[in-house]
Amino acid sequence: MHASERVAVYSTLLNIFLVFLKYALAVFSGSLALLADAIHSSADVISSASIWAGIKISRRKSKRFPYGLYKVENLVALVTAGLIFLAGYEILRSVFVASEELRPERLPVAIAGVILVVLLLWAFSRYELKKGKQFGSPSLVADAQHVATDLFSSLIILIGLVGGYFQINFPLDRAAALIIAGLIIRAGLKIVIDAIRVLLDASLDFSTLNKIRELVLETPQVAQIISLTGRNSGPFKFIEADLALKVRDLEKAHSLANQIEQRIRHQVANVDHVIIHYEPIRKETVVQALPLSEDYHHLSEHFGEAPFFLLITRQVQDRRIVRERILANPFVEVPTGKGIKVAEWLLSLGIDEVT
Ligand SMILES: [Zn+2]
Repeated sequence: MHASERVAVYSTLLNIFLVFLKYALAVFSGSLALLADAIHSSADVISSASIWAGIKISRRKSKRFPYGLYKVENLVALVTAGLIFLAGYEILRSVFVASEELRPERLPVAIAGVILVVLLLWAFSRYELKKGKQFGSPSLVADAQHVATDLFSSLIILIGLVGGYFQINFPLDRAAALIIAGLIIRAGLKIVIDAIRVLLDASLDFSTLNKIRELVLETPQVAQIISLTGRNSGPFKFIEADLALKVRDLEKAHSLANQIEQRIRHQVANVDHVIIHYEPIRKETVVQALPLSEDYHHLSEHFGEAPFFLLITRQVQDRRIVRERILANPFVEVPTGKGIKVAEWLLSLGIDEVT
C-alpha cells in the first residue's frame, strides 16, 4: 500500500470512530447538535473511503488511459468540496433551527468528550495536510481541509455545550457559527478552483517553471529554450520543453536530453513525464569553398593541389553573398595526403559546402 493510501485509510478509521463517539455523547447529553454531527461524520466515512479508492484507482495506467488516471484525484477533491459546503450548511441549520434539550448534569462529561474530538481532529488535520503536501496529493489536502472544517463544527458544539452548562443567554454558538460558515465556504471554494484548474490543464505554477528553466540552462550546450510548458495531473507533473542545442550529432543530443530529464526528475518532486524536443541552432549563413587556380579567376582542376581557395559566405534565406575571402592553400607543398589535410583544414574554418 502506498503511503498516501495509508493516510486515507487512517482518515476513514478516524471518521468511523467519531461516528460512535459523537453518537454516544449525543444520547448521553441530549445534544441535538452532537446528534447532527454524528450523522455528518457517517457521511464523512463515505467521503474519506472514496478518497482512498480515488488514490488507489488514480495510480493505474492502462492502454485506455495511457496518461494515467491521476485526475481521478482531482475529481474526488471536487466531490469533497461539495461535502464541505454541505457541512457548512448543516452547521448553520443545526444552530439556527434545532432546539436542544440538554441535561445540564451530564454536560461536563459531554464537554470533555467534545474536547477530545476537537483535539483528535486538530492533530489529524495537521498530519494529513503535511502528508498531502509531501505527496503532492490534492485529494489528501482537500480531506485535511475537510477535517479542519469538521473541527470548527465541533468547536461550535463545544461552545454551545459550555454556554448551556453556565446557562449563558447570549447565543455564543450562533455568532461563532456565522464566522465558521464563512471560513468553510472559503476553504470549499479554494478546493473547487484548484481542482478545476488541474482538470483544465492549467500551467504549472511559475516558481516551479522557473526552477526547471534554471535546471535546463545549467547545461552549457543548451543555446536557447524555445518553449517550456508544464501541467499537473493529480499529484503528478507533466513537463514539455523545446530546446535549441549547440550539438549536431544526434546521439550526443539524445544523451544530453536524457541528462536534462534526469536532472529535472531529481530536483522537482512528482514528475511523471518529461518530453524534450531538441533541434540544432538555426544557422543564418553558409560558407562555400571553391578551389582556385593561380590566376585567381579559374577553378582549379585538383582539389588538394589548388593553390588558393575562395570562401563565399551566403545568407541561408536568399543566397545573397555577404563576404568573400581568398586563402592560400597551406598544404600545396605537402607530398602525400594533401586531399585529407585540405579537407580537415576547410572543416576547421567552418566550411559547409565545397564545389
Ligand atoms: Zn465532515
